[in-house]
Amino acid sequence: MRIVQKYGGTSVGTIEKIKNIAESLVEQKKQGRELVVVVSAMGKTTDALLAKAGSITSKPNKRELDRLLSVGEQETIALLTMALNEFGVGAISLTGYQAGIETTGIHTKSKIKSIDSKKVEKYLAEGKIVIVAGFQGINEAGDITTLGRGGSDTSAVALAASLNCECEIYTDVDGIYGVDPRAYSKAKKIDEISYEEMMEMSSLGAGVMEVRAVELGKKYGVPIYVGRTLSDKRGTMIVERNLDMEEKVITGLGITDNIILTTLKSLENTPENISDIFEALGEAGVNIDMISQTLVEGGGLNLSFTCPDNELNLLEEALDRIRRELGEVQVEEHNHFTKISLVGIGMMSHPGVAGKVFKVFAREGIRFYQVTTSEISISYAIDPKDKERAVHALAEAFNL
Ligand code: ASP
Ligand code: MG
Repeated sequence: MRIVQKYGGTSVGTIEKIKNIAESLVEQKKQGRELVVVVSAMGKTTDALLAKAGSITSKPNKRELDRLLSVGEQETIALLTMALNEFGVGAISLTGYQAGIETTGIHTKSKIKSIDSKKVEKYLAEGKIVIVAGFQGINEAGDITTLGRGGSDTSAVALAASLNCECEIYTDVDGIYGVDPRAYSKAKKIDEISYEEMMEMSSLGAGVMEVRAVELGKKYGVPIYVGRTLSDKRGTMIVERNLDMEEKVITGLGITDNIILTTLKSLENTPENISDIFEALGEAGVNIDMISQTLVEGGGLNLSFTCPDNELNLLEEALDRIRRELGEVQVEEHNHFTKISLVGIGMMSHPGVAGKVFKVFAREGIRFYQVTTSEISISYAIDPKDKERAVHALAEAFNL
């Protein structure tokens, strides 16, 4: 069986760990697996490389930065290949370029355009284990590019798509949990989750896997396994949604800390006003998330929205412009809110989730300030002091 495996930075953080992975690969090879192995840079190497650049200039040339950052993964592929050779097993290391990974877009945030897997296929046919540097490729100009932080997941899933096989992502957690175990120690591991749910969970801050990699998996139908490196414990499968899954209404709960809730009060209710406001926010580069509006007596409008609190400067800039353009606007800002989101494809066919949440909040005396929904999720902005109680009560109510 052919498989692409990816080992993250912590998993290859020391020489000892690299040797242990090599040993496991030898064992898997004996069992007849055809292996393509994508690795990250060792431990915090990428951060260290960034710091080195930063000690020379605050604005490194992006092309040069990409060359520097791509070095981390190249160290790992060489060491892992040597370790395999020590076990007497044929293996070969390939940079992103050598593995045929072609990218497009800007340096340090490039996207994979296509993969020419001829070389990988050739080495597999020779019976070798192929070790590929994650997070990198080569662009139209023939320059080395990187895929953005955490990009090795994307390298692995893209390679699996081009080689027509499954992808296994090995990391330092046991899989995907219904709730972040740091916030709820009784959280249950999820055996199977759909791409859609995983995408919402990633962007909602579950953080185990890169969102782009999951998107790619969905697009090309690559089943993705996420589990702990060198552990027998069963992890999580990310797959196409199926009807069985829909029986469980809620799959996971996402927590996003540090959001700002802004309310613009008693606006004149015209489409131009609203569009001016969002244009100002968009042009300042504020990432708006939840939006709601309420009509107030006398025909006015209250408009609320949330954004991450590290964008406070951008928000202030936009609010200044809004005040200038719309005249005196009453602004209310609540810093440091927390967003709690429930995610589940079962919501499409089971009504009543919102009602159940409201009941839990009422019982617990938890106030919420904003609610938004998508097809498969519902999110609440709450006061951070209520977060722990909300997470525990909801996790229990929905058996997460
Ligand atoms: N080494 C890169 C990073 O630290 C890519 C990755 O690990 O996925 O972001
Ligand atoms: Mg990662």
